[in-house]
Amino acid sequence: MYEIIFLGTSASAPSARRGLAAQVVKHDEYRFLIDCGEGTQRQILQSGIGFKRLNTILITHGHLDHILGLAGLLSTFMRWEAIEELEIIGARGALERIHDLLYGVVLRGAQPPMSIRLREIGPGVFFEGEDFTVSAFNVSHRGADCLGYLFEEKTRRPFLAEAAEALGIPAGPWRKDLVAGRPATLPDGRTIDPESVLGPARVGTRLVHVGDAGVTSNLVDVARDADCLVIEATYLEEEADMARQYAHLTARMAAELAATAGVKKLILTHISRRYREKDVLAEAEAIFPNVSVARDLDMFTITR
Ligand SMILES: [Zn+2]
Ligand SMILES: [Zn+2]
Repeated sequence: MYEIIFLGTSASAPSARRGLAAQVVKHDEYRFLIDCGEGTQRQILQSGIGFKRLNTILITHGHLDHILGLAGLLSTFMRWEAIEELEIIGARGALERIHDLLYGVVLRGAQPPMSIRLREIGPGVFFEGEDFTVSAFNVSHRGADCLGYLFEEKTRRPFLAEAAEALGIPAGPWRKDLVAGRPATLPDGRTIDPESVLGPARVGTRLVHVGDAGVTSNLVDVARDADCLVIEATYLEEEADMARQYAHLTARMAAELAATAGVKKLILTHISRRYREKDVLAEAEAIFPNVSVARDLDMFTITR
């Protein structure tokens, strides 16, 4: 299960109701801030989630509407919030610009009280928790070096307690081995095959997050059968030419991707202030009914 909290849902510039791109994905005790547009720290306060353990930041790309908030956030971390490490993860192009912002503008030679790690990644798994992974994939937007993020719980097989009872498997380390898929030799000398106490594989929850994107054809595979796809919808079809010119999606393009990939739930964000929310929703709903247009401070729970 994941929770996603939208801190900012506006495209390019803030509107009266929407701040710039930022969202938090939570899984157990893990928290990831994805993008950090200007004003993000105030949204963190408004949302009530607090700054604690909010020191792993994933960046989709280096456009200013996705990174400018890092300057203020670092400034706050330096003065008010005790954290040991700030880790900012993204592709090279984004990190170069973030480096300039943090070291050239905020720090200017000052020594921060915490370690700052700019971690360059490419496509593939870059974070592994006990029961889930986070991986990056390429996204086509203006310029190279745009990444999307896939949060994926590991497939697991439930332990069949009744079967274990019937086989007389005592509580203790033997059960732990069997849960991990290893055969266990009991004190009475019998060896138990894990197959006899594990149920059928259960695929974990998958949450796909795409920031800005110009095309969707290369996103179908990663989004296939996802429990939730979060993606931008900057334009409506009536301005599809502009969408193409600036390498953004229309609500219709996002909905068509969701339908083609067979996702369960679609959440649109990065909404332009040129449109009414209900028009964005209507355009997407006509193609993919299970869609929401995120508002600032909305929270969604994503389960299988
Ligand atoms: Zn953007
Ligand atoms: Zn962009």
